[in-house]
Amino acid sequence: MDESNSLYSELVGPQNDETAANSSDTNTSSSNVEIMKTYDYQNVAITDIVNSIIIDSINNRASDIHFNPTETGIDIRIRIDGELRLYTQVPDYVKRNMITRIKILAGMNITESRIPQDGAIKQTIQDKAVDLRVSSLPTNLGENIVVRVLDYSMSSQGIETLGFSESNLQKLNKMMGEPNGIILVTGATGSGKSTTVYSILQKLNTIDRNIITVEDPIEMNIPGINQVQVISDIGLTFAASLRSILRQDPDIIMIGEIRDEETAKIAVRSSITGHLVLSTIHTNSALNTIERLLDMNIERYLLGTALTGIISQKLTKKLCPYCRGTRKTNQYEKEIFKKSLNLDINEVYEAKGCDKCHNGYLGRLPIHEVLLLNQSVRDAITNNLKKEELRKLVYGSGTITMLQDGLTKVINGDTTFEELVKAIDIDDSDLTSTGLTESIEESQINKESLKNDETYKKISEKTDSDYEVFNLDFLNK
Ligand SMILES: [Zn+2]
Repeated sequence: MDESNSLYSELVGPQNDETAANSSDTNTSSSNVEIMKTYDYQNVAITDIVNSIIIDSINNRASDIHFNPTETGIDIRIRIDGELRLYTQVPDYVKRNMITRIKILAGMNITESRIPQDGAIKQTIQDKAVDLRVSSLPTNLGENIVVRVLDYSMSSQGIETLGFSESNLQKLNKMMGEPNGIILVTGATGSGKSTTVYSILQKLNTIDRNIITVEDPIEMNIPGINQVQVISDIGLTFAASLRSILRQDPDIIMIGEIRDEETAKIAVRSSITGHLVLSTIHTNSALNTIERLLDMNIERYLLGTALTGIISQKLTKKLCPYCRGTRKTNQYEKEIFKKSLNLDINEVYEAKGCDKCHNGYLGRLPIHEVLLLNQSVRDAITNNLKKEELRKLVYGSGTITMLQDGLTKVINGDTTFEELVKAIDIDDSDLTSTGLTESIEESQINKESLKNDETYKKISEKTDSDYEVFNLDFLNK
């Protein structure tokens, strides 16, 4: 029981600690957990029940369906807007049949339950075309199955609908207009990177361009694009596929993810030899991405030349437009708004809750940081400038930090301060690491004219900790 509890708390995350603690009492699933559905296991065939669970979860906008084995059966939980909720509890006598049914659907080996397996469900269930990735993991209580719902309907609606601010969208369009170079989309798993990448690809997908992708897995089929599935078992790795792709006269290459040095190097070289390369990488900001690539032994001058732009993103909850209310900002929030955007914000939107949403939120909203590299940032990378200097240049070239983008979205009522704080750590150290102060400072100071100015010198000499409390008001005089 202890094991399953720790699994729970890990999966649910700290915000649901109470749930995890309460679930030590196995049979009374804690009072604050709401079961969404019950099924008639006595009279309905298991195949129909599994189908209904899948379709109902998708209709509830679930991104994942978890079949967690317990001592008394299976707890099915579904993730909606990033949060796991208990969907239903399955009795013990149905446990084995249900797991087997899912494994059959996913094309897995049902005689093997001791090793993890991967599968996929791509068919029409109850008149609905579904595309699901399924994985199994043997635990002490049975096989744990997680079904990932692939839904790329967002990306076919166009890049304009993805929540980019006007200025970030302009930068993005500029990047996409380049004939060569590398565009990287960065963020943690589940931050919506694929949706952004597919949206970009669809925008670039015209008859006069040969677009080839190498992916693992291919998450969405796009007509008019040649998509290659990586099969590492037979040696068709990212790197091997890329080498072949280069002989296929591509204009644009999309690499599912840059995971290793070899892939990174081919990506850089391809972009320098006249291809536009699009890829994702698992980092959390533009600066970290540059460092990560340098760690992969990419030569500085090559990276400085190759990199076109970096789009970093995180997902936060989207405020329900039907029921949102307003409230006064507290002192801390006022300070953050002032420091970050130099705005006096006395009122913000807050979550309420209605029958259209879950606790005041409806769907998810990305927060972005879009870096379009200019010559000085390129030079800084090439010339091995100190990290601090590079940061100043990056955030001084008009790059809006994720915090600034998020706060703007709070002001606009697209999300709340509470949810933004969960997505972005706004403690003092983060204020500097996001380049917050530099961003405003550099964009508002003409460096050349102020080089000898006492004020500029004072800023230049400031250390990290000084920046945290530095008052920027004078910059606007
Ligand atoms: Zn609502």
